[in-house]
Amino acid sequence: MPEWLGRVLGPGRPELTCEECFASLDEYVELEVARSDAEAQLPGMEAHLEGCPACREEHDLLLEFVAADGQ
Ligand SMILES: [Zn+2]
Repeated sequence: MPEWLGRVLGPGRPELTCEECFASLDEYVELEVARSDAEAQLPGMEAHLEGCPACREEHDLLLEFVAADGQ
């Protein structure tokens, strides 16, 4: 990561872009439903979902869908 980008994103946890987030969202939700450590397998997802209402909403809908499907 270029140094300037690190300043823009701020210190702390790694965070994905929306594009990366969407690409891994279904995998992330599957891990959550399976009670696996989703954040360990897909670092940055949780941080992104906390900071991005659009992806958070998409995540919540998908989680609801996948959870309902498993019953
Ligand atoms: Zn996003």
